[in-house]
Amino acid sequence: MDFELSPEHKELQLSARRLVEQRILPLIMSYEERSVFPQEIFREIGAQGFLKAHMPKECGGLGLGTLAYCLVSEELAKAGAGMTHNGHFQTEKMLLDYGTPEQQGKYLAKLLSGEYLAATAITEPTVGSSFANMPTRVEKRGDTFILNGVKTLINDAAEADVINVFAKSDEGISVFLVEKGMPGFQILKKQDPIGMRSSPIYEFELKDCAVKTEQLVGKFGEGLKAFFSAFNFSRLGNASAALGIAQASLKKTLHYIKQRQVGSRVVSEFQGIRWMLAEMSTQLEAARLLRNRAATLEDKKQDISLESSQTKLLCVEVANRIVGDCIQATGRYGCLRDSLFELYLRDAKLLGTAGGSLEVMKNNIAKRLIGD
Ligand SMILES: Cc1cc2nc3c(=O)[nH]c(=O)nc-3n(C[C@H](O)[C@H](O)[C@H](O)COP(=O)(O)OP(=O)(O)OC[C@H]3O[C@@H](n4cnc5c(N)ncnc54)[C@H](O)[C@@H]3O)c2cc1C
Repeated sequence: MDFELSPEHKELQLSARRLVEQRILPLIMSYEERSVFPQEIFREIGAQGFLKAHMPKECGGLGLGTLAYCLVSEELAKAGAGMTHNGHFQTEKMLLDYGTPEQQGKYLAKLLSGEYLAATAITEPTVGSSFANMPTRVEKRGDTFILNGVKTLINDAAEADVINVFAKSDEGISVFLVEKGMPGFQILKKQDPIGMRSSPIYEFELKDCAVKTEQLVGKFGEGLKAFFSAFNFSRLGNASAALGIAQASLKKTLHYIKQRQVGSRVVSEFQGIRWMLAEMSTQLEAARLLRNRAATLEDKKQDISLESSQTKLLCVEVANRIVGDCIQATGRYGCLRDSLFELYLRDAKLLGTAGGSLEVMKNNIAKRLIGD
């Protein structure tokens, strides 16, 4: 058990932190206000290697493992959870675990460099948590698959070069890579979320959208395997985004309360505030250790369905508590938008729904414990 980050992980963490502080934070509110995808920033995230740090070297990555993805997500989320673009990482993971050599050759290098952006489309107007009953259908006709249905709340769907789309047939759920501009793919509307706004969400339609066999990821009817591999992994990204938000909030709070005078005293002298800080830092550290352990198990190729749900549940709950307490501890500062606490509050809240709700995480955990 080694609790120290390796020199490579520390360097990655510091370089992501520098990018966020110097390039992203000064611009973030302009993207947030309009809910616009930050094209230039995404390209820079790719150019600096943050989309490939976790991937194996033989696939063009830096070989730093799942913890690298977690550290990158944690740093990027200090500019809001929208910056973590989890649908992109989910697609990389699906291609790594279930892509054919041809699919990997066609897409992976472009996704790892940020030349291509990817999204994940599961949710539909009538199903979210219960996506196994999705109405979107796929019909096999010779060497072609015909997709019909509507997907909603899909991050970056209009900007993505490729979307992994889940669809159902009598054989089960399958996943297909749908490329931008394919006939039958149409954006219906841009939606207006309360959080994660630098990763805009869209509703789109697939109308007799024909994709070739080469676009099927994994086996026909076995898409749930790709789903679990990608989502057990990406829940660690959701959890890391929550940790980044909590860490940034705590740092701002410490800085503020040490210099804020209230009469003859500074806020950091008040016992009520000191105890709040003690609880926040303890919860944050415990949540981070759970995340690090889950990342280590993932790299040992163990089944992390229990640990990834526990990690997302704890990290998101801790982040929500910490942001709320930071607003309380900083008085007027926390009440003004400049502090970024309102961005963190909105995003921490949405992390409890996007990528799988906290109730679904609890169901996953209970199912693993009880065995049913
Ligand atoms: C900002 C944002 C971005 C998103 N991005 C994407 C994306 O890129 N791709 C994508 O496919 N989807 C995306 N989603 C959709 C997201 O995955 C769903 O919102 C989520 O899975 C919950 O589904 P739902 O909203 O339909 O809630 P519902 O399934 O309708 O659930 C409603 C409530 O019931 C609870 N609940 C549901 N089932 C159970 C149960 N069995 N036991 C106890 N409680 C239960 C839920 O936790 C929730 O509190 C995004 C959502 C948001 C908010």
